[in-house]
Amino acid sequence: MILPGATLGILGGGQLGRMFTVAASNMGYRTIVLDPDPHSPASQFATEHLCADFQDAKAIDSMAKRCDAVTTEFENVPAATLQALAAACTVRPGAHAVAIAQNRILEKTFLLDNGFPTARFAAIRTPEDLEAGLRTVGTPALLKVARHGYDGKGQTRVASLEDANAAWREMRHEPCVLESQVTFETEVSVLLARGADGAVAVYPVAENKHRNGILDMTLVPARVSEACAHDAVAMATRIAARLDYIGVLAVEFFVVNDVLLVNEIAPRPHNSGHYTLDACVTSQFEQQVRAICGLPLGDTRLLTPVVMVNLLGDLWHNEHTPPWQILLDHANLKLHLYGKREARSGRKMGHYNVLAPTLDAAYAQARSILQELAQSARVAGSAGTDHHPLPSGNVLP
Ligand code: AMP
Repeated sequence: MILPGATLGILGGGQLGRMFTVAASNMGYRTIVLDPDPHSPASQFATEHLCADFQDAKAIDSMAKRCDAVTTEFENVPAATLQALAAACTVRPGAHAVAIAQNRILEKTFLLDNGFPTARFAAIRTPEDLEAGLRTVGTPALLKVARHGYDGKGQTRVASLEDANAAWREMRHEPCVLESQVTFETEVSVLLARGADGAVAVYPVAENKHRNGILDMTLVPARVSEACAHDAVAMATRIAARLDYIGVLAVEFFVVNDVLLVNEIAPRPHNSGHYTLDACVTSQFEQQVRAICGLPLGDTRLLTPVVMVNLLGDLWHNEHTPPWQILLDHANLKLHLYGKREARSGRKMGHYNVLAPTLDAAYAQARSILQELAQSARVAGSAGTDHHPLPSGNVLP
């Protein structure tokens, strides 16, 4: 077991790294963050910030020498970096699981080979693949870059071969997956932690609402049938076992006629697990510390229904920051801001959790507060000289 007083390294200093760093510090660990951004959110809390590229040999060597365990906050860490670190210290999750999750072709193929249902898909590497893929997948379909896509970036809806060729050209003919566009009732995710001894702790199933490909809200417990929730948990647990996974893992699903299709695997704490910060006995970040340090996993019990809402950069406008009073007036709301210096459209700046005796009450309150914030940003936008309108992402119907 790696006990308090030890040093934990984290690759990536964004909001996930920041919340991990806070949890680790609270538990008495020292933290070293590697991130090239001098103002990265996690560096504000880390014991030390190595401000360098993820492939910087000197920084990696320094991390390897001084950390008792290293983890990652994002899947796009170069595999060579994880391997170099693994040669010198404990790295969790392992390079193998991260390599699968960081490449949509490997990820979908892993799921198919292991009998986990997904939307119909085809790997696209050549123009012939694209033509044949469209025939098997059908239209409408989504063309997604295999690597480095996130939050709906790097993916385009295509309805014909012409569309698909144009979209692929835009993606500079990078390897892609073409997948059938699914008409789903809802999206859910399962967050779990798996220890080195194979013990698994699963959080309640979360229901996710996206806008423009970006997570907008998470409702917990998810409003799905008991059988569906049970299947989701069982599938996520089997995926973790197949990957020989150690750490916190999130699996996203589409629910189609009460049947589950796996959409994506995230080898790390996940945006849809931010509700655990305030609504569960153990947050996903404390759980990540526990899992990578070989401590017993924490209790995942949900203490109250909860709705998590992402605060995107669209709510900021030049000098205008969201009127925090709107949020802080609510005694049952927990605000989390990530300390990012610049707001951009679609950028995750923070989130809030609304805790209420019923999910319906939490959802109604969460929506009405977001309406107020969006309205305030709209007013600020139209009062400014260089008005740029809010995209629909932040305007509730
Ligand atoms: P992804 O980055 O692949 O998780 O996609 C982001 C969001 O886009 C998902 O959460 C869905 O809301 C939507 N999406 C992605 N793939 C599909 C699909 N095959 N069919 C329908 N919607 C999708």
